Parts: sequence; structure tokens; C-alpha cells
Amino acid sequence: MRVLVIEDDPDLNRQLCDALEDAGYVVDKALDGEEGHFLGDTEPYDAIVLDIGLPKMDGISVLEEWRREGRKTPVLILTARDRWSDKVSGIDAGADDYVTKPFHVEEVLARVRALIRRAAGHAASTISCGDIELDTRVSKVTVDGKPVKLTSHEFRLLSYLMHHQEEVHSRTVLTEHLYDQDFDRDSNTIEVFIGRLRKKLGSDCIETVRGLGYRLKEPTEHGK
Ligand code: CA
Repeated sequence: MRVLVIEDDPDLNRQLCDALEDAGYVVDKALDGEEGHFLGDTEPYDAIVLDIGLPKMDGISVLEEWRREGRKTPVLILTARDRWSDKVSGIDAGADDYVTKPFHVEEVLARVRALIRRAAGHAASTISCGDIELDTRVSKVTVDGKPVKLTSHEFRLLSYLMHHQEEVHSRTVLTEHLYDQDFDRDSNTIEVFIGRLRKKLGSDCIETVRGLGYRLKEPTEHGK
């Protein structure tokens, strides 16, 4: 899962990025509205945290442009406490949720989790596929109730597949959701991580769809 943070206060930006990274997301950051708009326009994020008061281009304009262009990425806006009107204009501009400053970073994390889940059609915070369970609150995975230790890359890959279970994902798409913008992407590494996940979760948990990519497999359907 990949998240973009657009916040011009460098300390707050770093605090948000660190917390999101600790929670298992890969994070890109922007310190002004123009750069943020560009990134949100060109990279496939799973969620975006967007400050309203930004230099070069304000958050409302950034959001309005994305929505005008048909971008549906879930967006959480950050608003100042004394600016209730920012919430109204933000939601009218297409924001999915808001957090008022000053906030506890845990609240931002919870709202980002919920946005990503709901955008993928999951209402509950635990997502399961057969006997594999992902608890999005604590970023933990269990198989048959037993905890499985995953590296951050393995976790991100599995989390993406768990959120989007019905679909077949190409290596390119998976790479885009696993690495930040500066990463030198080699889509062969996806194969390596798929192999490791199969080893840890059961060899038949991820199906290879020839020429198309990978899909998480519901074991019960296939006579486990
Ligand atoms: Ca600001």
C-alpha cells in the first residue's frame, strides 16, 4: 500500500511519514501543493493525506483538480481547528474524510486505514481470505490463527492482494503500490516476494495467471 503525504510543515510531514512507514505503508511526500498535485496526478496512491493550507497551490484547489480529472484516490484532508469552513469546502471538493489540527497521529493512521479498506470494499478492520487473516489495525497476519512473520515488503504485497482479492494484478501494478517514487524498480523482485509469501502462507495461496499477473486465491473454492 502506497500513501502520499502533502504537508508544508516539514516536522509534521516527517512525523506523518514516519508513522505511516512504521504502520507498513510505503510513503511519498510533498511539501507544497504543486508538487503534491503532480504526484497525485501521476502515481497510483492507495490514499493521500492532504493539508489544506499549502504554498504554491492550496489543498482545496489540488483536490478539485484531481476530482475534475476523475481521480478517485481516497483523500484525507488536514484542517486547522478554527476553520470549520475548510472542512465544508474540503468535503465538497471531494475529500473522503478530515482530521483537525492538532491531531494525534494515531487518528490519522486509523482514518487512512479505514479509507483504504472502504475504497477496496471492506468495512471491517480484519480482512480474510480462507485461513489467512490480516488485522489492519496492528498490521499483523495470521494463518489458521497462528501469527506469520513478514518483512515490510512481503507485508505490503500481501496487504495489497488481501485488499483487492477479486482482481488479477500485473507485476507493474504491484511494483507501483510497493515502492516509492525514488525506487529503482525492477519488477522481477515481485516474483521473489510472491515466492516468499507462498513459502510462508502456503504454496497455493497466490495464483499465477499466465501473462497477466497474480491473484490471491480463496482456498475453499479450489478444494484445499
Ligand atoms: Ca499548512
